[in-house]
Amino acid sequence: MGDVHYAFGIDIGGTNTKIGFFDQNGTLLAFHHIPTDKNIPANLFVEKIAQESFALVSSYGIKKGDHRLNGVGAGAPMANFYTGVVSEAPNLGWKNVPLKNLFTEHFGVPSVIENDANLAAVGEKRWGAGKNLSDFILITLGTGVGAGLIMRNKLYRGHDGLGAEGGHVLIPHEKKRLCSCGGMNHLESFLSAKGIKQTIHELTGEDWTIEKLGTLYHEGNQRAKTIINTISEELATGLTSMAVMFGPEAFVIGGGVSKLGDSFNTVIEEKLNQLVHFSLKGKIKVISATVSSDKGAVFGGAALIFEELKK
Ligand SMILES: [Zn+2]
Repeated sequence: MGDVHYAFGIDIGGTNTKIGFFDQNGTLLAFHHIPTDKNIPANLFVEKIAQESFALVSSYGIKKGDHRLNGVGAGAPMANFYTGVVSEAPNLGWKNVPLKNLFTEHFGVPSVIENDANLAAVGEKRWGAGKNLSDFILITLGTGVGAGLIMRNKLYRGHDGLGAEGGHVLIPHEKKRLCSCGGMNHLESFLSAKGIKQTIHELTGEDWTIEKLGTLYHEGNQRAKTIINTISEELATGLTSMAVMFGPEAFVIGGGVSKLGDSFNTVIEEKLNQLVHFSLKGKIKVISATVSSDKGAVFGGAALIFEELKK
């Protein structure tokens, strides 16, 4: 039996930052999340993540720079695998943050950074819902909307590492909604948590949480049904644009909003089949993410570390 190797997978989201500690088989040994502190500089926040991470694994005796720790794989919006920099992340208020270097500095081990949705896709491919799929698109619905593209079993990053920003495909719509990126009528304008809450308010005049929407929908509430139909159609419109370009086997839906569950997937799949080009009708499944559904990109972070080190 060889040595046990470990990796941290970190997911810096607009609201929470998740920390996962893994062995090389993908076993999640410890997990913790902290609020994402957007009021301190990124350097101090990564230092805080490192302190929390090492406190989490104190029972393993893992310390900064430990040789058993293969590395840290971290996901964040707009994180670029190739440059190691987050050029601009409106949901975090970050600009030109050298995130990879910060992780290496504070953890004392090699690190990789990657767009959070890309990383979630890597996690699903290696250990989750995408294990037996060669071509799929992961969609994360949370504070923002992200996409990760697995093509022929590999993550597709685009030529400069900023490909597959599926949250920013255009949605033809009679409404005008500003996106967090400054664009107009992007998928994220409608399907981010904020976008969905805005739709709920427009249709009911009330302020519901996403959880309340889910509960009422499962109880058969008519207004909740109308909202689910509306947001499913908006999402399916965006997925249709992606589907005709890439011909995926499935869309894998993750992120906080995906907790609306399997019946939400069924509605999305129906709408997608109505809208999509005839050549693809009935061929694309809409399924729930498994490892990234509530653990975000942490599995992908660890998976990427173990993969990169094999090279
Ligand atoms: Zn946008």
